[in-house]
This record gives sequence, structure tokens and C-alpha cells, in this order.
Amino acid sequence: MKRQFGGETQGSLDRTQDNEPVHKRSGMNRRSLLRGGALLAGGVTAGTLIAPLLGSTAAKAQAGRTYPRGRTPVAIKNNVYPRTYFPNTELLAADEMRIIALGTGMPALTPKQKSTGWLVELGNGDVFFFDVGSGTAENIAALRLDYAKLDKVFASHLHTDHIGDVPALWIGGWLGGRYTPLHIYGPSGAKKELGTGSYVDHLSKAYAWDVQGRSGILPDAGGKLIAHEFDYRKHQTVYNKNGVKITAWPAIHVIDGPVSYRLEWNGLSFVFGGDTYPNRWFIQYAQNVDFSIHECFLPPAALAKVFGWGLRQGTFVSAYIHTPPEAFGKIMSATKPRLAVAYHFWTHHDLVPAVLAGIRKTYSGPLTIANDLTVWNVKKNHIETREAVVDEAAWPPGTSRAYLTAKRSGEAKVSKFIEGGKWTGYKPPPLPKR
Ligand SMILES: [Zn+2]
Ligand SMILES: [Zn+2]
Repeated sequence: MKRQFGGETQGSLDRTQDNEPVHKRSGMNRRSLLRGGALLAGGVTAGTLIAPLLGSTAAKAQAGRTYPRGRTPVAIKNNVYPRTYFPNTELLAADEMRIIALGTGMPALTPKQKSTGWLVELGNGDVFFFDVGSGTAENIAALRLDYAKLDKVFASHLHTDHIGDVPALWIGGWLGGRYTPLHIYGPSGAKKELGTGSYVDHLSKAYAWDVQGRSGILPDAGGKLIAHEFDYRKHQTVYNKNGVKITAWPAIHVIDGPVSYRLEWNGLSFVFGGDTYPNRWFIQYAQNVDFSIHECFLPPAALAKVFGWGLRQGTFVSAYIHTPPEAFGKIMSATKPRLAVAYHFWTHHDLVPAVLAGIRKTYSGPLTIANDLTVWNVKKNHIETREAVVDEAAWPPGTSRAYLTAKRSGEAKVSKFIEGGKWTGYKPPPLPKR
């Protein structure tokens, strides 16, 4: 897959001097870390539909995760990264954070840019999503992550371009290895029916047929969605486990409800603004963070032209409910992150220059203009910015023994009437025992 240039800080961004040149190509360490690793699904041979994850002892010890067959993750030494990120080939260090843009575009999807979604992987093995907008499930699949670990989504707000692929992650992840519920963290709204709890409740009801039919074939618990709704008006901790603290505070976007998030772990900080008009809370709570993502919309005239809107609509959307480039720059100048990340516009060649020029009128610090599948490795002394190259025909990464043995209440059945319609000219193979 060809990747487009994703920003102006491609490659290494150092806080301190490294011993080795940062652009030196890494001699990939071919020493297999899979020695002694067990095939978790046991006895599965090539050609079967369930490809096991490899339970590499070394990999688990260092990163708390497993890797699909055919990938040999290696440790990165002295901050010398391969120029391209190939998923599942690098061990995350114990003090390192990896962030991947799953979607950076608009509600109107293109094959090149999905809607908003961010993946945060930590060196302790924890994995978090911040928004999973429409289309992001494709990039999640392309990264071939262990679905069993993909069970937490933090929603900035309930626009489809930020939560549109919750159903795809919920069901796709359940098929692909998640045997526990999917947890959705998100804000309340001005009324009960506008909150995350209501969204999750209605989503479960809307897909009742889907879930009932799959439960029992798939692990029962994997079909559950659990909402964690919190008051959008408060600056508060909404998650605190395993050394990871996530706080939320209000954002200003269309109607009440949207929030921004800050994740703190191991002395590193990540901020995701969600959609917002420039607001004083972000200026207050996103000071001096390591990695700061804030939306950056197309300037009013460009937005109006691209969509075929009038200038009033373009100006309102860009500058009254979102943040145009010059305002993005002001926010970053006021908050001084180690790296500022701009997204939420089409990164077409004819549109990027106006966005960049706008930002650079008001901000001269470190910046990435993000594309889908831009990847950042964040450490205390180093930030690496690259693009991922993924397999467009990726297989699911595989399942674990825990998935294969998780409780299943039994396969669903059709009514006698429908059963009676089965054609006697076909006989299925005998059903193997569990
Ligand atoms: Zn929005
Ligand atoms: Zn949006």
C-alpha cells in the first residue's frame, strides 16, 4: 500500500541527542523472539480458519501482548527505528507509547481517509481507542492487533465520524478474538437520551438480531456492550487502572456533551481534544503535554468550496463549531506540547498548503499533519513519526485458547417452519464436538 507523506516532522524528533544518527536504517534484529513460544490454539495447521496468535514469552514479557503468526517483533535500540512501521514487527519498550491514527478525515469518507479514530498502545500492554469513527475498523483490521485486548473506547462525542464504527469493532472484534464485553466510555448530554448510556443502550437494541444470532456460536460475553457515562461538565478522572489515568473535561462543539481527554501513564501524557471550538479548558488542562491532538478544520472558504456550500455555512462550521488552522496554531502556542498533531480535514495536495500556512502564522513548534496510519512512538527522550505500511488483504490476527474455551451457551436455532425448508439435496458435514 502506498502511503502519502504525512506531515512535516516525518522521522525522528529528539528532545535530547542520541548516540546514533536517528535516520540510520535499523539493522533489523532477526534473532527470533519466538523461541519457545507456544501455539495457543494448539495443533492448528495451515489452511484452517483460525490462525493462532503466537504466545511469545519474550514478547509477552516486554510488551504484554501477543503477535500473529508470521511476524517476529524485535526490540528497538537507541531510538533507531525502521523508516516504515510494519505492524507487529516491533516490541514496544516498557517506557514507550505508540499512537496510530486510524482515521483523520471527515464524515464523508474516502478510501484514503476514514473518519476520526486514534489507537494508543502502552508499554505495559494496555490498549485504548479514542474515538472509532466510520471506516476506522478497516484500519484496525489492517494493523492485525490482538482483538482480545481491544475492549476500551473513549468517545469524545457521539457524531458518526467519531463513533460510527463502534458496531464494526463490537461485532468484528467478537468474531476476531474478543471474548469479554466491549466498554464504551463517553459523556452525558443535556438530556438523558443524548448521552453515551442511551447511545449504547439503543445500539444494543438496534443490533438485537445480530447479537442473538451470534451468541452461543461466539463466546457469550463478547456480545455485550457496557457503557461508562460521565458528566460532560466536570473536569474529572474517568479511568484509573494499571497506572493509567484518563481525565476528561468539556469541549465546545455544536450542542452540549462533547469532551476532551488526557491520558497519563509512566510520566508520559497524551491529549485528544475531540471536536471543539477553541476553549479555555483545553488551554488549562493540555499544558506542556508530550503529545497533543487537536482538530484543525479547513479554513472557511476552502471548506465551503470543497463541499459546494455557501460561505455562511462554511464559516459557521469551520470557525464557530470547529477550529480553523490559525486558531489551532494559537492553541498550540499557548499550550506548548512536545508535538502538536493536526487532523480532521482532507489531506489533499491542494488543501494542505493553506492549512499549513494558517497554522504557521500562529505556531512555530513541532507539528505533524496527520494522515490515516501515521504512527508515533513517544518516549521521554524521543518522538518518532512514521507511516505504517499495512496489508490490504490482512487476515484476522488469530485467537487465543481463552477465546476458544470461553463460555458459549449453544448455537441459535431457527423455528420449525424455517427448519422444514431445508433442502434435502444437501447434507452438511457432521458437527465436531466442542
Ligand atoms: Zn463532531
Ligand atoms: Zn468530527
